[in-house]
Amino acid sequence: MSESLSFFKKVNQNFDYAAQFTDHPTGLLDQIKICNSSCHFTFPIKRDNGDIETLHGWRAEHSHHQLPTKGGIRYSTLVNEDEIMALAALMTYKCALVDIPFGGAKGGIQLDRNEYSDTELERITRRYTYELIQKNYIGPGIDVPAPDFGTGEDEMAWIFDTYITMSPDKLDAIACVTGKPINQNGIEGRKEATGRGVAFGLEEVCNYADDMKNIGLETGIQGKTVAIQGFGNVGYHAAKFLFEKDAIVVGISEIDGVVYNPKGIDIDKLSDYSKENATIRNFPDAIYIENPNEGLELECDILIPAALENQITEENAPRIKARIIGEAANGPTTFKAHSILKEKGALIIPDTYLNAGGVTVSYFEWLRNLSHVRFGRIGKRFEETTYNAMLRAVENATGYQFTDTERMIVHGADETDLVNSGLQDTMINAYQEIREIQLQYGIPEVDCRAAAFINAIDKIAHSYLQLGIFP
Ligand code: GLU
Repeated sequence: MSESLSFFKKVNQNFDYAAQFTDHPTGLLDQIKICNSSCHFTFPIKRDNGDIETLHGWRAEHSHHQLPTKGGIRYSTLVNEDEIMALAALMTYKCALVDIPFGGAKGGIQLDRNEYSDTELERITRRYTYELIQKNYIGPGIDVPAPDFGTGEDEMAWIFDTYITMSPDKLDAIACVTGKPINQNGIEGRKEATGRGVAFGLEEVCNYADDMKNIGLETGIQGKTVAIQGFGNVGYHAAKFLFEKDAIVVGISEIDGVVYNPKGIDIDKLSDYSKENATIRNFPDAIYIENPNEGLELECDILIPAALENQITEENAPRIKARIIGEAANGPTTFKAHSILKEKGALIIPDTYLNAGGVTVSYFEWLRNLSHVRFGRIGKRFEETTYNAMLRAVENATGYQFTDTERMIVHGADETDLVNSGLQDTMINAYQEIREIQLQYGIPEVDCRAAAFINAIDKIAHSYLQLGIFP
C-alpha cells in the first residue's frame, strides 16, 4: 500500500520513522517536515518553428531555517509539484547532515529536453529564471539553484546571465546560482562533485572492518564489484572515481539496456562510445542486456542507483543481490524496499548522505562568488615558497638532496586541491557522525538512513530553537 504513496509522503515516512527516536515536540517536528512554500507557474515559449507552447514550472522552498535555500533545477517529463517538494525536503536534510548552512529547495520544468533545440532550451531557461525573479524565488541570499537531472552548466550560465541582467548593480549577483561554467564564475570540481562525493563516501563506508564483516565483504573499496544505474553526470563520475580507487565497475545500465562485464568495464571507453552513438547499446567490450531493469539485479558488491527516484521498489528489492546499496540518486529506494533490503542484510547508504557532494561544492562556489576571489589565489605562491625554503633547510642540514618527484609534493594548494580535500573531509566527517549516532542508539532499528535523518532533524531542531522563531 505504501508504494502508491506520493514521493513527498515517502520521504516523510523516513522522517517519521527516524523522528520517533528523538524527543523533539511534535509541533517542532511538523514544522521541520512541512514544505514552507512552493510555487507553480506556467509560461509560454515560442518553438523554433513558430509554434507557441505552454510549459509548467515549479520551485519549492522546503525550509527557511537557514538562508539562502538551495537545490537543483531539473528538466524531466516526470516533474510535478509533489516531486519538487519531496526533492526540496531531501535537500534540507542533506544540507543539515553535511553542515552546509542552507535550507532545502528544488525546482523543475516538465519537459523532455531531447525534444528541444539548444536555442529553445535557452529561451525556456531564461523565461523560467524571469518567473523566479518576479516571484522572489531566486537571489544569493534568498534561493540559489544548481544543476540537477536534465540540466547542467549551460542552463546555469543562462540563469546567471538573466539574473545579472535584471540586477546589474548587485555586487553579489554572481552567487545567485551554482554549477556555472568555470569561466562564468563557476568553481573547479563542481561538475564532478556529486560523483566524486559518492566515491569518497563509499570508500569511507568500506573502511569500517566490522560493518564489512557483517555483510560478508572484505575491508576496503579495492576490488569491490560495482553496478551503476544511470550514466549521466553523476553515474559517469561515480564510476570513474571508483575505478580510480581500484573498484571494478561490472555493470552500467541506461534507459535502453545494460552493459555487463564481470572483469570490469573501461569507463572512459564507454563514455566515448555513448557520446558517439547516443547509446551504450552494443558496446564492444561487454555483454548487452536489453532489459534495463536487470541492471539493478546484477551480481555485485555495491549497487549504485544514480538516476531517478523510486527505482528500487517492493517488487524488485527481493531480487537485488548487492550487499551495499549506495544511493547516488535522490530517493531511489522506497520505504518498503528499504525494509526488504535491510531484512536481507544489505547495508543501505542513504541519498541524504551519499549524494551530498554536489551541494557541498556548490557551497564552496557560493562562498567563492561572495568573496570574489578564487580559492588559493592569495596563499598558493606563499605556501609554495615557504615549503621550498623548508626543503632547502632540510637539505642544508642533512646533506640529503630531494628528488624531483619528492619536490613535486611541495606545492601550494590551488582551487582543485582545496575543493577536493574540502569535499573529502565533508564526506568523511558526515559518515563518522552517522556511525556515532548508530553506536549511540545501539539498536538495529537505527540503520544508516535513520541515523542520517536523526542527525539532520537534531541539527534543524537546534537551529529553530536557537533562532527563537516561536513567538
Ligand atoms: N541537484 C543537486 C542535489 O540534488 C545539487 C544541488 C545544489 O548544488 O544546490 O543535491
